[in-house]
Amino acid sequence: MSAAASGWEVVIGLEIHAQLATKSKIFSGASTAYGAEPNTQACLVDLGYPGVLPVLNEQVVRMAAKFGLAVNAKVAPRSIFARKNYFYPDLPKGYQISQYELPIVEHGELFIRDADGNEKRIGITRAHLEEDAGKSLHGAVEGSSGIDLNRAGTPLLEIVSEPDLRSAADAVAYMRKIHTIVRYLGISDGNMQEGSFRCDANVSVRPRGEEALGTRAEIKNLNSFRFVERAINYEVERQIDLLEDGGEVVQETRLYDSDKDETRSMRSKEEANDYRYFPDPDLLPIEIDDDYIEAVRETLPELPDAKERRFIDDYGLKPDDASILTVNLSLADYFEAVAEATSAKPQAVANWVIGDLVGALKRDSMSIADSRVAAADLAVLLDRIADRTISGKIAKEVFEAMWNGEGSADDIIEARGLKQITDTGAIEAVVDQVIADNPSQAADYRAGKDKLIGFFVGQVMKATQGKANPAQVNELLKKKLAD
Ligand code: ADP
Ligand code: MG
Repeated sequence: MSAAASGWEVVIGLEIHAQLATKSKIFSGASTAYGAEPNTQACLVDLGYPGVLPVLNEQVVRMAAKFGLAVNAKVAPRSIFARKNYFYPDLPKGYQISQYELPIVEHGELFIRDADGNEKRIGITRAHLEEDAGKSLHGAVEGSSGIDLNRAGTPLLEIVSEPDLRSAADAVAYMRKIHTIVRYLGISDGNMQEGSFRCDANVSVRPRGEEALGTRAEIKNLNSFRFVERAINYEVERQIDLLEDGGEVVQETRLYDSDKDETRSMRSKEEANDYRYFPDPDLLPIEIDDDYIEAVRETLPELPDAKERRFIDDYGLKPDDASILTVNLSLADYFEAVAEATSAKPQAVANWVIGDLVGALKRDSMSIADSRVAAADLAVLLDRIADRTISGKIAKEVFEAMWNGEGSADDIIEARGLKQITDTGAIEAVVDQVIADNPSQAADYRAGKDKLIGFFVGQVMKATQGKANPAQVNELLKKKLAD
């Protein structure tokens, strides 16, 4: 039985790790570039050798402040770094530098739409700066595991939500929103395959109407929206089954296995005091004054919600389309560039961008940045529909040809002889011929079978290779068939 249909309420809080898009690490000058040979980008500071000192990269402070302002949070005038102590092979220094008490960002919020389309506020408890650990490489070395420390010291912003999410769909909507925001701000590339954007999902259930939170399990390191959705759904079912069978949920860390589509226990959950957090004696507090915050505020771009609103208000787009277009800043920019350059209606532009352009990008696994049809060129194509040089249907063919590199819309229309026939005399001749060739259909139409108009339009279009102006064809057919 689904959770929604049962007497249980689902409660979820996400801890999202966004890798900050700096060139160098959070406390050292080593490069953060992805994909280097293992262990070529970890310096003595990243490894925590004795006698070296971390120096904070100012960029990360600016980026965290930017995020804080974008989610309407408080950017702390003073925050501190702490050492979180634990042993793991990918953490040779024995502690991770993070923030514990006094994080840089607190008390934020954002809004998502739930399954019924209602707006819902999700609290952001905090966002803190920390360094990433290294990575174990299983299978890279025969018979043993390797450790790649390139990622050690990579800057992360950990964004912690309130337990305000009530379903896997809520969790995905929230994570997508954060993903969109960090990319708009340019503070993270959000690349999930490369691990630059991932989350831990804390999941519990409680009897509907119950105030107290149930015991939660934390599912670690989910790096795709699909996995977040599946892992949570699996976990919810598991907990409900367990409780209904008289069992108890234990607080623990679990791993999601995407091959088996299940979560598995990894270890019992540590309590904060297991980590022996203490302020890092090697790092000064981060102090931020109002001038700094105001200067950062000046650099904020138009944010996704505001852009979505503007696309609806100024361009008259359908809300769903405005939402699709603004999820990705490059797509939103592309749409605007076309809309500004063409005389076609903005909604028609949106239909083409969302349908044909995004369709072609998906088919060829490309991103908007590599689009094979530039915004200015699509604008010309849409102008040719608007000025009735070609029909919308023929335009699809021209678009495909443009995508395949055959030239501009005008070149293709010319080369393939696709210009619409708008000469009434020419169309009339074809219409007369089609009616003469189909006497029984014409008789049926005249006897009241109105639907047959579609048949006649189809015949005329076929005879003109789709080039007759559809509105004129319709009009002439109706006139002639009425005679
Ligand atoms: P930890 O110190 O173990 O990371 P936190 O209190 O910081 O725990 O919470 C981590 C995340 O878990 C937050 O997103 C929070 O909203 C969520 N959370 C806490 N308790 C529950 C619960 N009972 N059910 C679901 N999520 C929870
Ligand atoms: Mg945590």
